[in-house]
Amino acid sequence: MQYDHILIRYGEMALKGKNIKKFIVRLQENIQHKLKDFPDVKVKRTQGRMFVLLNGHEPEPIIEKCKQIFGIQSLSLAIKVENDLDEIKEAALYALKNNESAEKFKVAVRRINKDFPTDSQTMNQVLGSHLLANTKGYKVDVHNPDIAIKVEIRLEATYITSSVTQGLGGLPVGTSGKSLLLLSGGIDSPVAGYLAMKRGVKIEAIHFHSPPFTSERAKQKVLDLAKQLTKYGKEIKVHLVPFTKLQQAIFKEMPEGYAMTIMRRIMLRISERVCENESILSMTTGENLGQVASQTMESMHTINEVTNYPIIRPLITMDKQEIINLSEEIKTYDTSILPYEDCCTIFVPKSPKTRPRRDKVNQFESMADFTELINEAINGIEVIKVSDKQALDPFFEDLL
Ligand code: ATP
Ligand code: MG
Repeated sequence: MQYDHILIRYGEMALKGKNIKKFIVRLQENIQHKLKDFPDVKVKRTQGRMFVLLNGHEPEPIIEKCKQIFGIQSLSLAIKVENDLDEIKEAALYALKNNESAEKFKVAVRRINKDFPTDSQTMNQVLGSHLLANTKGYKVDVHNPDIAIKVEIRLEATYITSSVTQGLGGLPVGTSGKSLLLLSGGIDSPVAGYLAMKRGVKIEAIHFHSPPFTSERAKQKVLDLAKQLTKYGKEIKVHLVPFTKLQQAIFKEMPEGYAMTIMRRIMLRISERVCENESILSMTTGENLGQVASQTMESMHTINEVTNYPIIRPLITMDKQEIINLSEEIKTYDTSILPYEDCCTIFVPKSPKTRPRRDKVNQFESMADFTELINEAINGIEVIKVSDKQALDPFFEDLL
C-alpha cells in the first residue's frame, strides 16, 4: 500500500463551459512538460480528474514542480485501489495511520460510481467503524477533524486522500493567447509578466538596451529575469532592441522635459511592430499608478496614444509593498535589485514633465523624424530564446 498518485484539482476551469476540453488538454501538456525530467512519471486524465502517476518515484519533488503550474488549484497525494470494499478499508486505515500527529478524524466518501453497491453515507459509517476498531487513541470529529480521510469512488477505481496542498490557481499558460512583456531590469515588470501568465497568457519579452551605456551584465540580468519566469511557463523569446541611437537622438532633439515621454512612445511603437511580426495581440507592462513621474494618469494617456493594442497592466492598482512581496515569492527580487544601469536610468531628464500633454508631444514629434532610426532598431533586434533549462550566468550565481 502506498501513495502512488497525485490528484490534480483545477477548480476554476470547471466554470469555462465549452472551453473546458481545451483547458484540460493544455494543463495536461503543461504538467507533462514540467515533469519531463522524470520519465517514469506519467500524467493521466479520467473523467473530471487528472492524476500524476508516480510509478515509485518520491512524491515531494513532483509536488514541488506541480506547485509552479498555473491552472492547478490544489493537489493531494492519493492511494488508488480497486472498487472493492476490503481494499478501500485497508487504504483508509493506511492513510489514517500514516498521519501520526492526528487524533480526531473524519471520513468523507463521494460515490461518483453509482454501480458501487454501498451509498456514501453508509460507506462513511462502515469506514469510520473500521478505522476505530483497528486503531487506538483516535476519535471521530466530523466538525473539527485533524485529518479528513477522503474517499472518491469513481468509475475506474477508488482514490483515498488525506491532505491538500494549495496550487497556484489561475489558468494554464497558453490558453489565453500571447502578450509581449516590456521587460526592464526592475522589480515591477517581471511581476507583471508572472501575473499575466497566471491568467493563461503566454509571454514573449522585449527589452530596450543602450550599449555601451548599458553593460552586458545589465542585459544578462534581464535574461535571468526571463529565465526565472520560464519556471511558470515554457521557454520565453526575448527580443533585445538596440536603443542607443534612438535615445541619443531623442535627448538631443526633443525638449528635455518631454524626452522621457517620447522615449516611452517610441518603445511602444517598436513593441507594436514586434507584436505584428510575432502575431501577438497585446502588450504587458509593469506600470503602476502614481509610482514615478512617468506613471501619472496624464502620462499614461499621452504614452498610450501611439498604440491601439490592449496593454495589460497587472500591477496598476497594487501597493509597492505588495509588488515586492510577490517578487520575493517568485524569486525575481534578488535579481531585480542588482545595481545594473538601465537605459531609462542613464538617460534621465532632470525634470521630466509629470503631466505631458498629447498635443504638445505631437507637436514636438512632428519636428523630428525618427522613422529611420526606429526601422534600424527593429532590424537590429537580437532574439534570444530563454529556456528553463539554461544555466545561470556563473557571475550571477555568485551573487544570488
Ligand atoms: P520596472 O520596475 O518594471 O522597471 P519602473 O517602476 O521602473 O518599472 P518605469 O521605468 O516607468 O517604471 O517603467 C514602466 C514600465 O515600462 C516597466 O514596468 C516596463 O514594463 C517598461 N519598461 C521600462 N524600461 C524598459 C526597458 N528598458 N525595456 C523594456 N521595457 C521597459
Ligand atoms: Mg525600471
